[in-house]
Amino acid sequence: MFAQPGDAAGVEPDSSEGIRRMLTEIILDASTNAPRSCQRRIGPSEVGDPCPRRLAYKLLDWPTVNDGGDPWPSIVGTATHDWLANALERHNRESGQKRFLVEERVEVDDGTVSGYKLGGSCDAYDTATHTVIDHKVVGDSVMRKYKTEGVREQYRIQANLYGLGFERRGLTPQTVALAFYPRGGMLGGLWVWTDVYERQVALDALKRLGTIRDALIALDPEARPQMWEHLPATASSACRFCPWWKPGSTDLAVGCAGNLNPTQAATAA
Ligand code: SF4
Repeated sequence: MFAQPGDAAGVEPDSSEGIRRMLTEIILDASTNAPRSCQRRIGPSEVGDPCPRRLAYKLLDWPTVNDGGDPWPSIVGTATHDWLANALERHNRESGQKRFLVEERVEVDDGTVSGYKLGGSCDAYDTATHTVIDHKVVGDSVMRKYKTEGVREQYRIQANLYGLGFERRGLTPQTVALAFYPRGGMLGGLWVWTDVYERQVALDALKRLGTIRDALIALDPEARPQMWEHLPATASSACRFCPWWKPGSTDLAVGCAGNLNPTQAATAA
């Protein structure tokens, strides 16, 4: 007989622990095999990553060493995105007008700026106000941080990249918006950041990606692993989410130590 999810010696499958294990295994299996987890090509959400070395690993599709830990926050985020997409589509249907372009795929670069063909699905584009809308689901402390210190530059770049993609399709984006939804709070906690769409922000990010590509070609760390150290790293608390983060690693061909030890990482925001 095949093992079933949750099966473990001494644990009754209909006990609370048996059911907990069964659900956890099924969720982890679905999460590991979700399209986003399996995405190999670089996307607009990653282009503005502050760490050139992380981008380099991504561009080379380097074997990962960090699964990112508990996937629940990202599962909640994905489920919320699906719900919001349905809500906007419903609004389109009920109003009889296709005001919102929902989860539309746009081509951000045909390869002429960064050297890579790059595209992705944008959460929403409001054709009434020509606004790119990107949904973010965040915890309390991150929400507070963005409100007081400003949003991550990586997010601003992502939104402008989508804007560029819509511009390439003949639309005229004016505004980029990041809608932050509280992961554990109420709808009243929704906070929206806006900025004027700036094509140059997107182009500069694509050019930066192109310089990393040039460095990879020149250094060729696949053939010469010792060259990894010449790809600069921008370590931060975000290292804990980096697929190539390996605390204590001294071999960049295996993983990058970042600047956090495991204890710091466990408490990083
Ligand atoms: S672990 Fe940190 S410093 Fe190293 S590649 Fe990843 S993000 Fe960059």
